[in-house]
Amino acid sequence: MRCLKCGQKACLEIRRHHAAFCPEHLLEHLHKQVARAIKAYRMFTKEEKLLVAVSGGKDSLALWDILLSMGYQAHGLYIDLGIPGYSETSRQKARNFASAKKAVLHEISLREIYGVDVGYIARKNAKTFCSACGLVKRYIMNLAAASGGYDAIATGHNLDDEAAALLGNLLYWQTGYLRRQSPHMPAGQGLARKVKPLCRLGERETSAYCLLQGIDYVLEECPMSRGTHTLLYKELLNKLEASAPGTKDQFYLGFLRTGRSFFHNRIEEPILKPCTKCGQPTTDEVCGFCRQMSRAGLDPLALRAAIVDSVGSGV
Ligand code: AMP
Ligand code: ZN
Ligand code: ZN
Repeated sequence: MRCLKCGQKACLEIRRHHAAFCPEHLLEHLHKQVARAIKAYRMFTKEEKLLVAVSGGKDSLALWDILLSMGYQAHGLYIDLGIPGYSETSRQKARNFASAKKAVLHEISLREIYGVDVGYIARKNAKTFCSACGLVKRYIMNLAAASGGYDAIATGHNLDDEAAALLGNLLYWQTGYLRRQSPHMPAGQGLARKVKPLCRLGERETSAYCLLQGIDYVLEECPMSRGTHTLLYKELLNKLEASAPGTKDQFYLGFLRTGRSFFHNRIEEPILKPCTKCGQPTTDEVCGFCRQMSRAGLDPLALRAAIVDSVGSGV
């Protein structure tokens, strides 16, 4: 296998692009793919302040590294959910990267604020771990972006994540989710702008990026995600991709080009209003976060104070 650009020995083949690259040209290719996504979906500009949600995994650390090297103003946000044997390691990886790059990393820890982990909140609400975790993460990201005056939140969702999410949304005809599944969700109704600049990169590519750049990331997947539907969808899509390279791109990027507008034009946008307890946007009187926290006997407003403390307020 030879590099498409220079003919030297290639380190990675990307079958869906009919290409293979040497280390130098692979890095160039990956940067170009990210730059292309940022431009195509009008995600953000060099003048704007970005908050990168960093989990300590390969995708979000690769994303942070790429954005910093492109000259974007990108601060990190690590959310410690108190997952035994996992959160400590991933937090350390995020810290190591931040100090090596002299980048700003905000940290929010549930255990430090409440003395409980997200599993406790899930159990008190009879919810799955992943659904409680997702709710808490989204809430913290949105509040942190607003408190710190960030223009957008960037997450490390890659092509595999997005294609798997799309498959799940289609299998269960989640029309509301299909309406808003996008690498760029504009700000509105109290929600911060959310962007996914890695949406054109596969998992293998972000791993290769970290390897080449010497970025140390947490290798294990979150132990709580074992056996979830998302992993099954990823396996199925990988099988399709192996026998017909390009299927994943066709499926997801094709949805963005054509399928999404179908749902966008037909499904009404829900009207959001401020939660009567915390002021964050919700379709109900009291938002899902405040409800879950109350059922767990925890004060939702304590989190707000901790976020303001760590991220700042208003500017
Ligand atoms: P996941 O939901 O674990 O697939 O993660 C998707 C994206 O959400 C990651 O690429 C990160 O950008 C963000 N994320 C996940 N977990 C955390 C965390 N503990 N702290 C901050 N951001 C996170
Ligand atoms: Zn080359
Ligand atoms: Zn609320």
